[in-house]
Amino acid sequence: MNPLPITFTPKMWGIAALIAIVATSTALLVGFYVHSARQQLGADYTALVGDIVRAQQTTPQLDNALESFIDEPIGLHLRQINHALWLSKKYLDHVRQGLNGHPQLHQETAYLEVDFERLAEQLNKLERRSEAALVDRSLLSELKRLSSDIEATMAWTYSELNDAVHSAAGRQRLIMERLSWAVAGLVVAVMLIALALLAAVLRLQRQRNALKTLMLTDELTKLYNRRHLVASALAALNDAQRHDQPLSLLLIDLDYFKHINDTYGHPAGDDVLRMVGQKLRDISRGTDVAARIGGEEFCLLMPNTNTEDAESVAERIRQTIAKQPLSHIDKDLRQNVSIGVTTTFDGKHSFEKLYSLADQALYQAKALGRNRVECVLPPTSSPGHQKILANSQVMI
Ligand code: GH3
Ligand code: MG
Ligand code: MG
Repeated sequence: MNPLPITFTPKMWGIAALIAIVATSTALLVGFYVHSARQQLGADYTALVGDIVRAQQTTPQLDNALESFIDEPIGLHLRQINHALWLSKKYLDHVRQGLNGHPQLHQETAYLEVDFERLAEQLNKLERRSEAALVDRSLLSELKRLSSDIEATMAWTYSELNDAVHSAAGRQRLIMERLSWAVAGLVVAVMLIALALLAAVLRLQRQRNALKTLMLTDELTKLYNRRHLVASALAALNDAQRHDQPLSLLLIDLDYFKHINDTYGHPAGDDVLRMVGQKLRDISRGTDVAARIGGEEFCLLMPNTNTEDAESVAERIRQTIAKQPLSHIDKDLRQNVSIGVTTTFDGKHSFEKLYSLADQALYQAKALGRNRVECVLPPTSSPGHQKILANSQVMI
């Protein structure tokens, strides 16, 4: 059988487009943040912050050394100044080198380059002047001025730098926050897509089941159709052969059904067919397969059932239907059926053969006046089975 073509409804296209939009925008969002995060999150400002703090701490050290020198300009105090100057220059260099390792921050603080240069110059000048002041005390007042200039430059430069580092670290935190939202969004999107897929799969499964039911059942009576009967019969014959069990087949045909249609109309006839279907459902066992195989022709496949039992079921079907008043048409009206029965005792017959035997039995039932059950068995029935056939059953 050719597979049915898959048709996409506008709703399905809508769902597919929605999934595509959600997935694409989430991927873009995450991609954008991952890109900017790689620039920002890779930066570790700890070392730079440490150098800035140490550089700021050199200010009071230099101040104290200068004060001592101005009070008492001796070689010891000059050495203290030189040491403080050495530290100030060292940490100024560290800070500047540290900035080179953070291109974005470096760019943002480019305006501080002038102050760095001025500070370096001021420190050099202080070094030269303090040495000269050791011999020329008149220079001490200039040293005082220089010292407060250096203090102001350092305070301004390093506090600006601190602010810049803190705002960069703040940006890092913000990106981390957004990234975690993006990841949460991605997880939700993936879950939504998974749910949508699950719903689509379930829907397909339901459609598949409905289609399967439609393919295997008769629309009017809701019994199985010929296709399912044949497939079930093949499996049942296999089982019968394997377990050496009997399998019986009943062919049921409504008597003078055309008359119902002609007299009371097709819809009334349909109701009769539905009633017969219901009776077959009621009487058959769970393992039996009841099917409508033609206009007003029904079949009952009975696994593990010998002729005697099959005939008794057939008789029950005949009587039950015959007793049922067709009240929706006329309360005195009844529908009779003729039934042909056959049995294979070991499953070694084809379904076509069984069907043809049951059809012959049905033909006999019709020929003998209708509203009766007749049986025709296959010629290969064993002697043990012959016993069962004792009463007037025909063997061909
Ligand atoms: P017999 O006792 O020899 O079987 O006579 P019959 O009238 O039952 O047999 P016949 O084959 O002459 O007519 C069968 C009728 O079944 C003819 C057709 O209109 C009717 N039929 C077939 N399918 C349907 C159906 O789906 N609905 C209805 N209402 N009638 C149907
Ligand atoms: Mg008929
Ligand atoms: Mg018929």
